[in-house]
Amino acid sequence: MEPTDTDRYDPDAIEAKWQAVWAAEGSFTVPNPEPGAESEGRSTYVLEMLPYPSGELHMGHVFNYTLGDVFTHVRRRQGYTVLRPMGYDAFGLNSENAAIKEGGHPRDITNRNIEAIRRQMKRMGWAIDWSREVSTAEPEYYRWTQWLFLRFYERGLSYRREAPVKWCPKDQTVLANEQVIDGRCERCGTEVESKSLTQWFFKITEYADQLLDEMEALESWPERVLTMQRNWIGRSEGARVIFTVDGGGEELPVFTTRPDTLFGATFFALAPEHPLISELTAGTEHERAVADYVRHTAARSTVERETKEKDGVFTGRYAVNPVNGEAIPIWVADYVLMEYGTGAIMAVPGHDERDHQFAERYGLEIRQVVAPAGGSASADAGAYVAHTDDEVLVNSGEFTGLTAPEGKRAITAWLDERGVGEATIGYRLRDWLLSRQRYWGCPIPVIHCDACGVVPVPDDQLPVLLPEIDDYLPKGRSPLASAEEWVAVACPSCGGEGRRETDTMDTFVDSSWYFLRYADARNDAAAWDQQIVDFWLPVKQYIGGIEHAVLHLMYARFFTKALNDMDLLGFREPFSRLFTQGMIYRHGAKMSKSKGNVVSPDDAVERYGADALRLYILYMGPAEQDKEWSDAGIEGTARLVDRVWRLALEVAARGEVGAPADGELVRAAHRTIDRVSDDILRRFQFHTPIAALFELVNETYRVKDDPSRAGEVRFATETVLSLIQPYAPHVAEELWERLGGNRLWETAWPVADPTLVATDVVEIAVQVNGKLRDRLQVPAGTAEDELIALALGSERVQAYLGEGSPRRTIVVPDRLVNVVA
Ligand SMILES: [Zn+2]
Ligand SMILES: [Zn+2]
Repeated sequence: MEPTDTDRYDPDAIEAKWQAVWAAEGSFTVPNPEPGAESEGRSTYVLEMLPYPSGELHMGHVFNYTLGDVFTHVRRRQGYTVLRPMGYDAFGLNSENAAIKEGGHPRDITNRNIEAIRRQMKRMGWAIDWSREVSTAEPEYYRWTQWLFLRFYERGLSYRREAPVKWCPKDQTVLANEQVIDGRCERCGTEVESKSLTQWFFKITEYADQLLDEMEALESWPERVLTMQRNWIGRSEGARVIFTVDGGGEELPVFTTRPDTLFGATFFALAPEHPLISELTAGTEHERAVADYVRHTAARSTVERETKEKDGVFTGRYAVNPVNGEAIPIWVADYVLMEYGTGAIMAVPGHDERDHQFAERYGLEIRQVVAPAGGSASADAGAYVAHTDDEVLVNSGEFTGLTAPEGKRAITAWLDERGVGEATIGYRLRDWLLSRQRYWGCPIPVIHCDACGVVPVPDDQLPVLLPEIDDYLPKGRSPLASAEEWVAVACPSCGGEGRRETDTMDTFVDSSWYFLRYADARNDAAAWDQQIVDFWLPVKQYIGGIEHAVLHLMYARFFTKALNDMDLLGFREPFSRLFTQGMIYRHGAKMSKSKGNVVSPDDAVERYGADALRLYILYMGPAEQDKEWSDAGIEGTARLVDRVWRLALEVAARGEVGAPADGELVRAAHRTIDRVSDDILRRFQFHTPIAALFELVNETYRVKDDPSRAGEVRFATETVLSLIQPYAPHVAEELWERLGGNRLWETAWPVADPTLVATDVVEIAVQVNGKLRDRLQVPAGTAEDELIALALGSERVQAYLGEGSPRRTIVVPDRLVNVVA
């Protein structure tokens, strides 16, 4: 027999039907406020990190955007105006590499991917305001990226300098520190090399303290993300100490967090990239060996340099320690990194593990200068002595006997008085290197002129459009350099011959302000209207992956602060609340093509429908944790959809019946409203509401054939539809209509009646050593630890317990607590 309409939900037909309605009427489009309008707390901005269109959507995207969608629907139905836009982080290596490999223009490849993603998003039925869609690679967008770059340049927040850079030999491009993960290129996994180039930077270090201090305002950010940002900024208090080259006088400043160990410095070490090295060794017998060493280490990755056995080479020169006038040998050592501190260290092998390893290897002196309080200097002068909390200075001249904190202060003050050092603060954070020698990025809008230097492209000549070229393959210089007609341009300042900058920007620049553009996406006269941006922002709920904790999230905060200082924005933090979701695994590994464990969203939708996928992706487990995909799991939510389908059609066929004021099923429905609302809105939990809906559907099925409870069944069924709507908007809408309702997506979110939520009261027997001593009246389902607390709080129990504390407690929920004294 042909299955009928009443047997199974038909996702193809019904999901397409409602998607067409929402598209035709722009159901989720929100207009911008009238000038002068105040948000009055009823407008909100829900944002998920925008996709990088490298291919099609994967399950991680489906998770991210479904979570944002559920939250958006609930907020809308609570009466909020919700801004929920979408766009594409469209520049970047993926399309460019595809163009090199397969031919074609990166733009066409990008746009093809965007089309595929857009189609998938629409197929998922997400409530997106499509009128604000942006692609960061369109001139309408990158014109303003360039405009913003120039504002940073005017303020001295973007600048150019020669710098050793991290270089990916495979991608033939420079990488930011943040894009080097364990010494490898974040994008392709190739081991990173070092190279020296003139590069553009953003002065994010100027905002180091503000990025730290203003974290106070980010209460609802995950502590893990805040910790990662704090560590990345890496603020530490210490001293700048100026050593000098013996017999030369050049200053060699170092930063140390332990100036109290200055008497223990027995050698000095420079990073291989240190600019003074060739000068120090010029014309000496050491020149050749040092130059060889420097060349050799340049090819080593940072991680190799930091983890392998330390090595180095002696320069033949000495540095004078300002505190005792001692001349100590200057080495070049590759465990010293140019990008940290000053690229030079005073080595204290007695109390620093890495210095100790190096000293042991090369037979350098090891001197103890701190010892645990009450103890004395170790008998073995060459031993490494770890720091302790209470240590005191030894072998430290006039400072001997001081505690370490006293010693720190005293030695720093001594250096300061003599002009050879000062208290200072060090940071791990480096300036943001934004130059890329690649084609598919936003051109940096400056012109180089021999007479005038760097000249910004005037605002009215923006955008500087990407030139059309034939060969995207980087050959150590930017592919843009081959567009000679494009490069040659008149200097805007003197009219002489100028050359366009050929570097493009790191794509993280594009994504550092897209959330601002969304608010005023179609503005062709400005990057945004401040009044509109101030109306919508800061983003009230941002959702994305933890992998962006120190990249995108740090840059976006920096941009927002700088733009606020330029009076272009009325706020200093872009995202008030942040939620970072876990990853989706299958067969124990992250889904990836190479592992062959990918489930494509298209396949899942085709087989089960968007609603079943939307339900399953959030039902898998707590949103913040990593989760394992199971095919049986999605079959379960598909069955739930079918059960709801059959139930509602059966109820619809019976026609109107008035809902009773009370009854066990009515109470269950109110408890479910309470649970679902509380989980989503207060706890930001999305899997437990689905479990609650499974239960309510089961309870309704149990009594649905009892004619005396038809009213209760109808109320429970309507409640199921109303609560499942954010998760499964298509089936919910269809059934709501069949039950005689209209536009569930705009229907007020249900509110539980508190008198009906209250569960039954049960009596708990409280025993001490197995003897009944008290009885407590508590709500059914009271948690174990709460029952224990109530039992121990009972006066009669306390009387029997006396002074002794309970050895253990035994709890039978809803029945008994036994305290064993
Ligand atoms: Zn790479
Ligand atoms: Zn000029």
